[in-house]
Amino acid sequence: MLGLVHDGNSTRLRRDLPRPARAAGEATIRPRLAGICNTDLEIARGYMGFRGVLGHEFVGEVIACDDAAWLGARVVGGINCGCGHCSRCARGEQNHCGARSVLGILGRDGVLAEEFTLPLRNLLRVPDSVPDRAAVFTEPLAAAFRIVEQVAIGSGDSVAVLGGGKLGSLCVRVLARIAGRVAVFTRRRGRGVLPPNVSEYPAEDAAAAQNRGAFRVVVEATGNEAALATALHLVEPRGVVVLKTTCQPPHSLGLAPVVIDEVTIIGSRCGPFAPALAALGDRHFEVDSLIDSTFPLERCDEALVRAGERGVLKVLVEGGRIP
Ligand SMILES: [Zn+2]
Ligand SMILES: [Zn+2]
Repeated sequence: MLGLVHDGNSTRLRRDLPRPARAAGEATIRPRLAGICNTDLEIARGYMGFRGVLGHEFVGEVIACDDAAWLGARVVGGINCGCGHCSRCARGEQNHCGARSVLGILGRDGVLAEEFTLPLRNLLRVPDSVPDRAAVFTEPLAAAFRIVEQVAIGSGDSVAVLGGGKLGSLCVRVLARIAGRVAVFTRRRGRGVLPPNVSEYPAEDAAAAQNRGAFRVVVEATGNEAALATALHLVEPRGVVVLKTTCQPPHSLGLAPVVIDEVTIIGSRCGPFAPALAALGDRHFEVDSLIDSTFPLERCDEALVRAGERGVLKVLVEGGRIP
């Protein structure tokens, strides 16, 4: 079958891939629509040392499994596959299982192919009210919902988001539903439709003196190593900085201000799918303006190049069996 494969050196479209072997308890899924995120771009550059089919954001259709009730279902799915018998898996934390595989990221082929497999327990059915173009955002939107699982945020809070890219834009949409005011500092303003309590500012304004300590919660979603210092400038004493960026180079930052101001720094990764899917079913929750372009699977190598161009938001790939 056709798929986009990273072999450790390069990333290319291959037509000679075997169809995936389905283990017990797994479903074989045909992607209907897949999304490309910065993690895919990093993996294509060698991040995680991954070899295999790229991609982890999808909405798809179950085409084979042991439980007939799932056949033909339109689904999204959690990307972390725990071992199922360690203490972390027993606590329901398969996202942190030391023996986990992660779809298209760690030890498991991803979704930029004609078919892929995922455990049935990872799947959620997509309601008819959520079209593919919205459902494909479930995984990155769940990562944004992870922030509100980790940090109590209320209507009286003002929150800053650093970065208005693919993930930052979704964080803004989630936070705008609960915080009183959200400020987003971004290199490219005027992209996407913003909720009314969101204000956009040029990225360089974040370092301005008048913004020092102005926000109780600051979410760092720039993909840029220098942004942690900016986040610490923006956060108020006893406030919270949430780090969403992975695979950046090591920080070289004095942490004395964290101690003096008693700042909490939280790492934040994968999140809950159910609230993400529910939000995507709300017609007031807009993601369509975040879509840059859609490519057929036969051209998903071009889709990856497009997704890596500066300032490009979400690039989608249409699935389908290739004759
Ligand atoms: Zn992603
Ligand atoms: Zn485990």
